[in-house]
Amino acid sequence: MPGKIWIVVQHRDGKLHRMSREAVVAGQKLAAAVGGTAQAVVLGHGVEPVVEALTHYELDAVLVAEAEALVDYTPGAYIGVLAAAVAERSPTHLVFGHSYQNVDYMARLAQAVGGSLVSEVVGFEQGDEGLVWRRPIFGGKLQSRLRVSGPAPVVVSVQSGAFSADEAVAGSAERQSLDSAAAVPDREILGVEEVSGEHVDLTAAEIVVAVGRGLGDPQKMGIIEDLAAALGAEIGASRPVIDSGWLPRDRQIGSSGQTVAPKLYLAVGVSGAIQHLVGMKGAGTIVAINKDAGAPIFAIADYGIVGDLHEIVPALTAAVREAKAGS
Ligand SMILES: Cc1cc2nc3c(=O)[nH]c(=O)nc-3n(C[C@H](O)[C@H](O)[C@H](O)COP(=O)(O)OP(=O)(O)OC[C@H]3O[C@@H](n4cnc5c(N)ncnc54)[C@H](O)[C@@H]3O)c2cc1C
Repeated sequence: MPGKIWIVVQHRDGKLHRMSREAVVAGQKLAAAVGGTAQAVVLGHGVEPVVEALTHYELDAVLVAEAEALVDYTPGAYIGVLAAAVAERSPTHLVFGHSYQNVDYMARLAQAVGGSLVSEVVGFEQGDEGLVWRRPIFGGKLQSRLRVSGPAPVVVSVQSGAFSADEAVAGSAERQSLDSAAAVPDREILGVEEVSGEHVDLTAAEIVVAVGRGLGDPQKMGIIEDLAAALGAEIGASRPVIDSGWLPRDRQIGSSGQTVAPKLYLAVGVSGAIQHLVGMKGAGTIVAINKDAGAPIFAIADYGIVGDLHEIVPALTAAVREAKAGS
């Protein structure tokens, strides 16, 4: 049976979510791999700019459910519309970006349509044994390869940064309407607030020292500050450091933080989860300090130092100071 791939996009203020642009690429590649067609699905109200943007991709169609009841995302309304559309049109795969909003309802949707669920996919291959998905496990230290033996449709979320939005194939797609009668909101959205105000512009920094959970204790931040001062660097951080309140939110680097491309990036006690990598993999030179030689950050580092950061960072700071004093 040829594949019929649906890419269910997320949008806000007339713009596609970055992860949805990546999901379009995943959907196009999936259609090519399994031999089939890819269609984008848009739910909302006043979504013309988003639909317009999608019609310029190589897609079979852009399916649009437009209703006032879809003006804000609610799981009930989204699942109602998508489940009815799936019953009518029988897609084989539903592809989503692995965003907070999508994760909120994907599992319920898979259950509602009697399908299967594969979350946080970072790749797939079509071989003799059928379609094999790849997804990280154990905090990204290992990758599992799996084949779905459950029923279609397969509901899939694509990990942030696993596919590059730049690889989208341009073309043209025709708009088609989806029935939105089943859009019944089950939440009342009281308001939407921006979480981060970007006070520190890490994108302009030439050198970034990024600190991860491996620091262990916020009281030890002094060694990071000393190294950053010696190098003339800005301090960035992984998300757990921010979530723990060790540094302000505007220092976060990664899929839900800032994307930086400094000349030099020092990752200190950062494991290298894909959500972090997507925000810094464009750096010129990457130096990683980690006590675990198997940490994924070493896979993209130009220089790796395996050891305890509490010993290495002060030694590095002293060496930088000495080198500067001597020059
Ligand atoms: C939707 C979503 C969005 C996300 N967005 C982001 C994001 O924007 N940015 C982000 O960073 N993460 C993000 N994450 C979280 C991400 O998945 C990882 O959990 C996170 O990046 C891990 O942070 P870490 O490397 O600091 O911590 P850990 O994964 O806990 O790694 C700590 C590392 O420190 C090392 N270490 C420990 N002690 C020492 C020592 N004494 N010396 C040297 N090394 C030591 C360990 O070996 C380990 O590799 C997101 C997750 C989701 C689900």
